[in-house]
Amino acid sequence: MNLCKTDEEIELMKQSNLLVTSTLAELAKLIQPGVTTKFLDRVAEDFIRSHGGIPSFLGYGGFPNTLCTSVNCQVVHGIPSDEELKEGDILSVDCGAILNGYHGDCAYTFAVGNISDEVRKLLNVTKACLFIGAEKAIEGNRLGDVGAVIQQHAESNGFSVVREMVGHGIGTNLHEKPEVPNYGRKGTGPKLLKNQTICIEPMINMGSKNIVQENDGWTVRTKDRKPSAHFELPVAVKEGKSVFLSSFEKIEEVLNK
Ligand code: MG
Ligand code: MG
Repeated sequence: MNLCKTDEEIELMKQSNLLVTSTLAELAKLIQPGVTTKFLDRVAEDFIRSHGGIPSFLGYGGFPNTLCTSVNCQVVHGIPSDEELKEGDILSVDCGAILNGYHGDCAYTFAVGNISDEVRKLLNVTKACLFIGAEKAIEGNRLGDVGAVIQQHAESNGFSVVREMVGHGIGTNLHEKPEVPNYGRKGTGPKLLKNQTICIEPMINMGSKNIVQENDGWTVRTKDRKPSAHFELPVAVKEGKSVFLSSFEKIEEVLNK
């Protein structure tokens, strides 16, 4: 498997990831109390297909849907359901799409109506972890440099980092090498190479770092049932500065309206 992409491949991957963040922006228009995650899932699948893409998650390892929708204490891999979202919930939406043979994979945690200040802080810190980590994803650094700054930012704000679930390389496969942990020690781990494409996806818990898997075989939730947030974007490793393969701009344009 080729860890390092050509510049042409990186351009194609930007298109796949733009489709994913555009899908999330469509969902941002709809997320409110009373909406079901199954409805959001249908909207996402239609949007991806109508733009020439294929949902990446649908059927992946047997996953039944286009989106992973994880509410409140659910960390990741939640299955869309008929349950209505409630005021004060948070909803992490993870979405993947294949376009031109390359995968996009991005996630955003949305507030449903008004949320508490404490939960708002969890969302802000988790998103900041992604950007702080991405700054370290440069040629010659090590994966531990990325994980260390994410862990430091989360823990210094009183939150904890999920250990079992990590980021990953991405390309013609949804999950490629290397694994990209959100914790670690500076100066340790594999070296980052120019034009490697990796998803940075901090999963940050308000309470303890411990997680359990629900009986549905997919949904991962916090053991203490306190909230968890998840943000994800892929970057291309470059000299001096990493390049994001998409952004949250479209999503936040909708949210800030
Ligand atoms: Mg994802
Ligand atoms: Mg991912």
